[in-house]
Order: sequence, then C-alpha cells, then structure tokens
Amino acid sequence: MTTLPLAELHMHIEGSLEPPQIFELAERNGIALPYSDIGELEALYEFTDLQSFLNLYYANMSVLRTAEDFADLARAYFRRAAAGGVTRAEIFFDPQAHTDRGVPLEAVVEGLAEASASSEREFGVTSGLIASILRDKPVLHANKLLDDLLAMKAPIIGLGLDSAEAGFPPSLFVDVFAKARAEGLHVVAHAGEEGPAEYIWEALDLLKVERIDHGVRCLEDDALVNRLVDEEVPLTVCPLSNVRLKVIPDLKDHPIRQMIERGLVVTVNSDDPAYFGGYVDDNFAALTEQVGLTEREREILYDNSIRASFIGR
Ligand SMILES: [Zn+2]
Repeated sequence: MTTLPLAELHMHIEGSLEPPQIFELAERNGIALPYSDIGELEALYEFTDLQSFLNLYYANMSVLRTAEDFADLARAYFRRAAAGGVTRAEIFFDPQAHTDRGVPLEAVVEGLAEASASSEREFGVTSGLIASILRDKPVLHANKLLDDLLAMKAPIIGLGLDSAEAGFPPSLFVDVFAKARAEGLHVVAHAGEEGPAEYIWEALDLLKVERIDHGVRCLEDDALVNRLVDEEVPLTVCPLSNVRLKVIPDLKDHPIRQMIERGLVVTVNSDDPAYFGGYVDDNFAALTEQVGLTEREREILYDNSIRASFIGR
C-alpha cells in the first residue's frame, strides 16, 4: 500500500451520512423516520439513475437540523477518510438543501466550519469547504445564496455546482460564478456525468472553473480531451458512483486507465460514500481488483490529487 499524501476533492458531506447516523440523529432531534430499521432503509439503496439517488439523498437529510448535527457529520467523515489514507479533503456541502427546509444557513456553516477547523488537529486531515449550488433550483436562489455566504463571511474556499445535471447547463450560472471569482473563491462544477460533453465546454468557457467534477463524458470529444490535457484541468472522477448511478455499466469497463494514458489530470474520489459503496480507499481497492490498477497508476492518481487540490492556493 502506498503511503503518499492523498487529497479527496469530490465528496458531498451530506453523502457521507451513514444509515446508523440517520437513526441516531433522528432520535436526537425527535424526528419520525419512514423506515422501521436500518435494514429497511438500506434496502432502498438500489438506484436506477442520478434522480433516483437524489430523491433518497434529500429525504435522509431531514435529520440534519443543528450546528452540532453538521459538526458530528463532518467529524465522522474526517475520521473515516483519515483511516483510508486521506490527508487533504475539500468537501462540498449543499446549503440550499437545508435552508429550503427551514434550517438556518448559519447552523449549517457553523457546524461544518467547526469540524473543518479542527480536522487537522483531530484527524491529521487538512480541509476546506466548497459551497455547492443546486443547479435544479432557480438561478436567483443561487445568487442569493452566494450573497448570504459572503455577508456572513462563511469560511469557504470555493463555489461548486451539483445536483440533477441534464437540462441545467452551466450557462445558467455565469453571473454567480463571475461574482464568486471576483470575491477570490475557487470555482468548480459538476459536468459531463449524465450531461453531455458540451456542458464541460460551458463550465470551462463560461464559468471558468478550475476543476471539472466527474467529466467522464469528455472522452466522447477528442478536441475537449486535448484541451483538458493542454490546460491541465483536473477531473474529479468517482468510479463507484459512476457504476451505482449507471453512468458506466460495470466497473471493469471504467475508463480510468484510458484517462490516465491520455494524460488527463484524473483523480479518484468517493462522491457520496454512504450511498455508493464506499470511501476513497474503497474506490481504489475496487479499481485495483476489477480494473487491475497498478502501483504506478495508483501513484499517478495520488500525485494528481495533490496537484489538483487547492492547497496553498
Ligand atoms: Zn458529486
């Protein structure tokens, strides 16, 4: 096993909410769950596409209410990530998924910021928070979210774009991304997961993102691959997620090796580890077993993750 530093750059903190913690938090907050036990909940984790996952994902978040809940959620992730060899984590959170159900933005930010501030001391993982816009909500809400985060001086390192991709192109969010860049935030966006390669072009040209989250569909467009290679734009690929959401039919067919060989700055990440079959180390283990990832390829992927991170930037 390699002991090189490893950055995880594509992980939604709400997606690390494990079934046992859902029951714990429901009890703490006096919330009645529509499942009688963990087994009944876990039986729902068979997804047909991105939307079928998102439906359960948003429903489970109802147990997250207070700053303490968010801090506990993030600490559980940092502990697990550290055990898997992660030394740096740049984590997404979805503020609108909480504010839209009445949780104050302050509670979300305060809890995550508290856990992030102590992640290095507690777990040996340096970290940063990336607020993600839900692209399937009205654009005006995205603008207000950024304004609110800036007004409260939220300790975030960047702005992202996630949720249901198809039909919600990056071009909708030009203004909010321009403002984020002007405010000195890093910018990234999910593109080319279920959506077409065209969305990756838009994310680069219109949003001027520094990384593409997912991006596996870039392989359908040679000119796009050449550009991503020339400009060394990192792709935060999530292999187990791709299989669970049917973006790739079988892990054996995952194009990770092809992406490395073409010179893309590709990285391996867990996306929503509680839902997709594991954390970043589980993704590496599965690739090693099913794709035959070599030690040299693992080293390239680890090295790419640090190059692609915002450490020191
Ligand atoms: Zn994602």
